[in-house]
Amino acid sequence: MQKIYLDHAATTPVEPQVVEAMIPYFSQNFGNSSSPHFYGQQARHAVEDARDRLARFIGAESKEIVFTSSATEASNHAIFGLAKAYPQKKHILCSSIEHHAVLEPVQELESQGYKIEWLDVDEFGQVDPTQIKNLLKNETLFVAVMHANNEIGTIQPIEEIGKVVKESDAFFLVDAVQTVGHIPVNVNDLNADLLTLSAHKFYGPKGVGGLYVRDGVKIDRFILGGDQERSMRASTVNVPGIVGLGEALKLCEQQMEIEAETQISLRDQFMKNISSQLDDVKINGHQINRLPNNIHLSIARVTSETLLLNLDMAGIAAAAGSACTSGVIELSHVVKALNLDKKYTEGVLRLTLGRSTTEQELDVCLEQLVEIVTRLRK
Ligand code: PLP
Repeated sequence: MQKIYLDHAATTPVEPQVVEAMIPYFSQNFGNSSSPHFYGQQARHAVEDARDRLARFIGAESKEIVFTSSATEASNHAIFGLAKAYPQKKHILCSSIEHHAVLEPVQELESQGYKIEWLDVDEFGQVDPTQIKNLLKNETLFVAVMHANNEIGTIQPIEEIGKVVKESDAFFLVDAVQTVGHIPVNVNDLNADLLTLSAHKFYGPKGVGGLYVRDGVKIDRFILGGDQERSMRASTVNVPGIVGLGEALKLCEQQMEIEAETQISLRDQFMKNISSQLDDVKINGHQINRLPNNIHLSIARVTSETLLLNLDMAGIAAAAGSACTSGVIELSHVVKALNLDKKYTEGVLRLTLGRSTTEQELDVCLEQLVEIVTRLRK
């Protein structure tokens, strides 16, 4: 049976060229990048090359990049690091559809007495910059709005939001995990003060992420120990992982634009086809401002569990974009925030395309999906 992977928002395969670039840094150039000897310096150069490449890629300076173990760590560092560095500011604005990597640290601050105002989204999942403007205060520590949502694929009016936040004393935290390597991300265009990213979302290895911190923004240390990463993050640096992140970005530099074009065309064709072949299907998220690879559907009169199970049996790996607890898929906070008609909340399905996704694969997926839904509805 042909196997079709349509869950690239969850993770992407590591490109062979990336693996090749990483291999020497396991056993041959294995030095600790903090060591002053030759082995250490060789590793250090490789890490600094990757840092320079990442900085260039997002319009930052190398000294503004901290390598982390994941985007989750980067978000935790940004949020708790700001809170500790500016203890007098106890007000936060946070979009209601952030990833748990942002939501949970913010909720933790709420439990410590911070006042959090949760930003609504419209039916397409977009935050309103005017709402932010009206809610900002002198004591606002930061505003957190993700660049694009990992479930519904909606891209936020992030430049506009950045401009509004820039006029205040608050910092702007942008989770760019789903956009770096897929659409242009420039920290200056976005007016981001802090930005997070993760290598495994752009064909790099798992377990390596990055935190951008604008020069002049203070954040406290998060992981305590040694002086690595200019004393911002202790722990021996993951040299092969960071080399892999840099190499993956090299491929994104070359392919991002054309890849996005191809995916948009495949995505739009699929959405058109599914809407014409099945009734009672709703496409969630924003029609135009959406990730090139994201298809997010609500299919009435079926459930996500049965859809995913049947697709899996047909060789197709998809997602509901929701938390799956003991086999039961709960309605995610993102889908809840869209205030959909109840009939569109049970059969939620996320298909996310990748670099290698073909028209043929999507044709098979479409055929299977139509067959499965028609059967389940009977
Ligand atoms: N933010 C978003 C939008 C994500 O999609 C993810 C991963 O799914 C994360 C943060 C967490 O990234 P990591 O796996 O590197 O911790």
